[in-house]
Amino acid sequence: MKNIIFVAPPAAGKGTYSSVLEKKFNYVHISTGDLLRDARKREDELGKKITLLMDSGKLVTDDIVLELLKQKLESLDSNDRIILDGFPRNVNQAKVLDDMFNSLGMIDYEVIYLEIDKESALKRTLGRLVCPKCKSSYNEFNEEMKPKVDNTCDNCGTLLEKRSDDTKETFEIRFDTYMSETKPVLDYYEEKGKLHSVSSLDGIETVLKNLEGVING
Ligand code: AMP
Repeated sequence: MKNIIFVAPPAAGKGTYSSVLEKKFNYVHISTGDLLRDARKREDELGKKITLLMDSGKLVTDDIVLELLKQKLESLDSNDRIILDGFPRNVNQAKVLDDMFNSLGMIDYEVIYLEIDKESALKRTLGRLVCPKCKSSYNEFNEEMKPKVDNTCDNCGTLLEKRSDDTKETFEIRFDTYMSETKPVLDYYEEKGKLHSVSSLDGIETVLKNLEGVING
């Protein structure tokens, strides 16, 4: 199985599909957004800085994200295969990741661009519900993605929450940040011949089939 890197606009489904692939193929799912949300819960100086940046819709600084990611990568077993969800978010991070992958011997990877238009991404953002415990993601505006019991995680029964950055105002900034800083990452991987595009607007089964096509291809 190849290592996977998801690059996409906010709410394209990176977290959702990472979780499905993690269960199905035994991947280790690494979401830098989740690592940051866990770090901010500590409410120390670092946590406060992260909260401020995340809730403003901007990127958290590279030094913070890279340190959290490095710790996570160092905890892996040599046989683990990973899905990176939300990293890299700019070209500098992509270059640092090249070095990290080289030193860990992780040469076998593919990059998947999960395509979605701005209007659909906004709708998904405003309907998103997340489980603070197991990180499962739901959507109250999508029949396929609703929890079985209102506001309750299907997986572990925890009360679901809205993310503090899932507001219309913050979405606009996150989308602009994606366009200016993250979209160039797609060109970076295109030039390396690593980029694959999968539409996120199809039904879940179709998207999964297309993702598996890339992973197994
Ligand atoms: P996500 O959970 O991937 O939607 O990320 C939520 C927020 O966490 C983003 O809007 C950023 O503020 C921050 N974030 C997540 N991943 C990164 C990253 N690789 N670099 C910088 N900031 C990040």
